[in-house]
Amino acid sequence: MSTFDALCANDDQLTPMRADIRRFLIEDRERFGWLPAVDGWLGAWDPQFSVRLAAAGFVGLTIPQHYGGRGLSHLHRYVVTEELLIAGAPVAAHWFADRQVAPALLAYGSEEQRRRLLPEIAAGHCYLAIGMSEDVAGSDLAAAQCRATAVDGGWQINGTKSWTSGAHHAHELVVLARTSVPDAEARHAGFSQFLIPRQTPGITVRPILQMSGEHHFNEVAFEDVYVPDNAILGQVGQGWHQVTAELSFERSGPERFLSAAPLILAIIRAISRHAADAGTTAEVGHLLAKVISLRQLSFAVATTLARGADAALRAALVKDLGTRFEQQSVELAAALAETVESMGEPTDDIARMLTIARLHAPMFTLRGGTNEVLRGVFARGMGLR
Ligand SMILES: Cc1cc2nc3c(=O)[nH]c(=O)nc-3n(C[C@H](O)[C@H](O)[C@H](O)COP(=O)(O)OP(=O)(O)OC[C@H]3O[C@@H](n4cnc5c(N)ncnc54)[C@H](O)[C@@H]3O)c2cc1C
Repeated sequence: MSTFDALCANDDQLTPMRADIRRFLIEDRERFGWLPAVDGWLGAWDPQFSVRLAAAGFVGLTIPQHYGGRGLSHLHRYVVTEELLIAGAPVAAHWFADRQVAPALLAYGSEEQRRRLLPEIAAGHCYLAIGMSEDVAGSDLAAAQCRATAVDGGWQINGTKSWTSGAHHAHELVVLARTSVPDAEARHAGFSQFLIPRQTPGITVRPILQMSGEHHFNEVAFEDVYVPDNAILGQVGQGWHQVTAELSFERSGPERFLSAAPLILAIIRAISRHAADAGTTAEVGHLLAKVISLRQLSFAVATTLARGADAALRAALVKDLGTRFEQQSVELAAALAETVESMGEPTDDIARMLTIARLHAPMFTLRGGTNEVLRGVFARGMGLR
């Protein structure tokens, strides 16, 4: 039994699912030859992989069967997500649709929206992007200025969203817009969510390249974009509540501490083929101890959420601790990579992943709400005024 298996010992009922996804990943990689990716959920876009993963039953796990999914629990999805991240699988294409939009549709979507989108999401070929942040509204999302004005039979959208992941591939965008005038006394009131096909006239998607040159983000401009009433997701005026209600799932998942796992595991595997000195052994032990602790914390939050209980504060804690660990682990990995080289092991694969890890690491603590802001949320939740 590996260390990772041992730390998963508290979820026996999920063991068959873990075995199934591991087998799928080994066979799929052997056959199609994808390379393990660091931060693959953000950058490794492979539509064919997503379709194969879905055909094998590993996308849409929590979507009910009558909408094309498997009708399983969030804990089943947690285990599959862990294994995908550890393997560095190219999951970016279906990631946001499966992780964020499917639960939102199940919680707030109309029957028409669910029937239209959920089977496509579960089939792994529906790409959806989240349009919340704006230039003037990141941490302070309530400052968002994108507005939707009621017109005959629908709404007219105007404004510009920033940092919209995957919008250039997306079939539809989930957009947060103001549907009533701002009220300084109630800053979170008057927002609504819309599901808008990307090809709708008036939408312009412009790339924002990362410093690595990768195209992941976009700026999305809406100029007099008309959408019918049935484009509203959930209730008019309830956008804020809807957006924040789903955040715990987003913040506490294994992607908050396993983004660099393929790199760390490649290093540990290489080192374990040799007799390591005491310092190296201590560093590896330190890394593993942190991963294991974070995993237990994250899994405890997932268990709470699966019961339908609130875990918003603990989710913020997982995100803060987990993403800080991810960043630190990249520099620890860089030091250990030198040890691997000195042992005469091949380092091409490690060097490839380390380069991406270093370029992506600054984003770990920003996405999903910055850590500084989450610490404030946590402190206030513990009673600080
Ligand atoms: C990889 C990645 C993917 C993303 N994908 C999407 C997406 O698909 N859709 C989307 O809508 N958005 C997306 N975002 C945007 C993300 O949600 C924002 O970057 C985030 O909310 C922070 O907003 P900001 O970048 O405007 O920074 P700011 O809010 O301007 O913050 C700048 C700095 O000031 C600090 N700060 C701000 N307010 C406070 C405060 N009150 N107390 C203490 N410190 C504070 C922050 O912690 C941060 O360090 C993505 C971001 C990243 C990095």
